[in-house]
Amino acid sequence: MTRTLAVAALLLTATGCGSGPAVARSQWFTMGTVAAIQAQSMEEAKKGRELIQPLFERVNTLFSTWQETSELSRLNQAAGKNELTPLSPEVATLVAAALQIAEASDGAFNPLAGSLMSFWGFTQERAPSALSSEEALQEARKLADWHRIQFYPTSTPVRLYLPHPGMKLDLGAIAKGYAVDLAYNTLTQVGTTNALIDLGGNLRAIGEASPGRGGWRTGIRNPFVDGSCTAQFLMTNGEAVATSGNYERFVEIANKRYGHIMDVRTGRPVTGMAGVTVVAPSAMLADALSTTLFVLGPEAGVAFLKHYPGCEAIWIPDNPEKLTLLCTPGIAKRLTPIGQKQFISRVISAKDNNARWSEAE
Ligand code: ADP
Ligand code: MG
Repeated sequence: MTRTLAVAALLLTATGCGSGPAVARSQWFTMGTVAAIQAQSMEEAKKGRELIQPLFERVNTLFSTWQETSELSRLNQAAGKNELTPLSPEVATLVAAALQIAEASDGAFNPLAGSLMSFWGFTQERAPSALSSEEALQEARKLADWHRIQFYPTSTPVRLYLPHPGMKLDLGAIAKGYAVDLAYNTLTQVGTTNALIDLGGNLRAIGEASPGRGGWRTGIRNPFVDGSCTAQFLMTNGEAVATSGNYERFVEIANKRYGHIMDVRTGRPVTGMAGVTVVAPSAMLADALSTTLFVLGPEAGVAFLKHYPGCEAIWIPDNPEKLTLLCTPGIAKRLTPIGQKQFISRVISAKDNNARWSEAE
């Protein structure tokens, strides 16, 4: 009747399988998930962790929707109170990036999805035991109109105002990727040559796992079998990967499971998609796009991706009987199946805005 819990597969991020021969790994719990750094020796891993653990903590104190004193929570508490709130540089940066992606995706990515997250029970300890009325749903959906965010990026300091009580900024779809980029920048600045940063499945690679390997091998989770991967590829220096899945956070209301990614056009959690993985030049972009493409699905998603050169995607529709990976061409040619040929792979590419599908060889 009520809900199950938030994070189902903590240790099973994209690298939870198929990362090849053992490398040194240090991991810890933060931001409601597992963070890890891999390196060529335990000493390097620990040194890296010392540098990046405080960064992740700082991002959490800014963006957590669970901590009442976080900057984001304070912004949300000021909604409808006619106060222009000054933003820290980090929050200003992320709000600007989030609004840009909201605009480009026509709201598939929505930084005001917070009212719907609350409606569906993701911000409480327990989800509601029954669905609320359609009117209440439409009320929560109206509060998610991101066009109404008043954001003043050129004022000093940058300021923001949410004009209606109940409006809730939620940057959960982009903040972890942003944190990973901060870690990447810090590590490269101090001269780290080989490391893989992982924050709850948001990855960014520096160098290689061992001499001559050419990068870091990364697995694509099979969303239908706990702890197993279906394919892998080699992440090269600087590349980022993020995965959004309906299997990681969900609520159960009246015996039905609802995932944590909202289609704000309907006010309901997205259905039909099990997982989306994105490869991008930065972790922030990979994170934001994995959520956006989860909402858009492959047809609209592949057209949308034309605005993001250097980004590739894999969609896994929610069909456990027929594990299918729909891949953009750039990632299709880099994937190798793990174990038996256990999935159907198709290449999807955009031509004149119409998606074309073809069997991979
Ligand atoms: P995870 O946080 O599990 O890595 P995502 O990066 O896909 O997964 O982010 C999902 C989170 O983003 C949700 O938990 C919620 O906080 C927020 N969110 C939900 N729907 C949307 C949406 N349509 N656009 C932007 N953010 C969303
Ligand atoms: Mg995301």
